[in-house]
Amino acid sequence: MTDYLIRALAYNNQVRAFAINGTDLVNKAVSIHGLNPVAAIALGRGLMGTAMLNYMQKDKNVVTTLQIVGEGPMKGLVCIADRFGTLKGYIKNNDYESYGLDGPFGVGACLGKGVLNIIHDLGLKSPYTGMVPLQSGEIGDDLAYYFTTSEQTPSLVALGVKLLPNQQVSLAAGIIIQLLPGADEKIITSIEQQVINMKSATELLKKTNSPEGMIRALMNNTDVVITERVEIGYKCNCSEEKMLQGILSIGKKAVTEMINEQEVIETRCHFCQQNYHFSREKLKKSLKE
Ligand SMILES: [Zn+2]
Repeated sequence: MTDYLIRALAYNNQVRAFAINGTDLVNKAVSIHGLNPVAAIALGRGLMGTAMLNYMQKDKNVVTTLQIVGEGPMKGLVCIADRFGTLKGYIKNNDYESYGLDGPFGVGACLGKGVLNIIHDLGLKSPYTGMVPLQSGEIGDDLAYYFTTSEQTPSLVALGVKLLPNQQVSLAAGIIIQLLPGADEKIITSIEQQVINMKSATELLKKTNSPEGMIRALMNNTDVVITERVEIGYKCNCSEEKMLQGILSIGKKAVTEMINEQEVIETRCHFCQQNYHFSREKLKKSLKE
């Protein structure tokens, strides 16, 4: 696995930055879900953004969910990340034909109007949630808008997925740069110029070869200190027990109806497409417990 995420400080601790090489993990997501090209780019951006969002949180027990609900044909996506290696997601509608053959096939056009939801769950009663209307629907812009409005943190976000003609992901990269309180506004102007020069996150990764290189380039090599480096990959944490609880959560009446109608109850994990089978007897027993 070559994918990893880094956290860094720069400009004498006035700026913090996150960068990720997500090439392998996005490739894995594309192959698990058999994603069409636009869906591949959308989910890849979402996954990298969610991983960085999770690593921004101080508490290591936090589970971060990024959810987009859109009126467009893609309908939206869900991505989840934690600090213990889980990074998973799915696209709500991957049926390419329904995206319309006239195009445009951009992520924003396929997501349409909608909202971006961010949830940080610590397992307490009420998780932290923030919601903003989609701006361009290209995900990076929407996340930047979310940071600025919901968290009052001026941020630059660039998320990119580059596909080969055979749908393989040739490069996937992401960057988030944030000004810390009291930072000199001139710094952001200087970084913004570097961001304009870089064209795209994938181009910058190609040029600099690593997340560290991406950050050093964008920060003009000014006092860059890498504070954390973690390997990251696409991984689901589903289990028979969790799937069983999922079935039971629909309520006793509905489960009883299922038992009466089917010999074996089959359910599939949205995130990794694995099938789980439960016998009538197993469900009857679980209902009693
Ligand atoms: Zn799963």
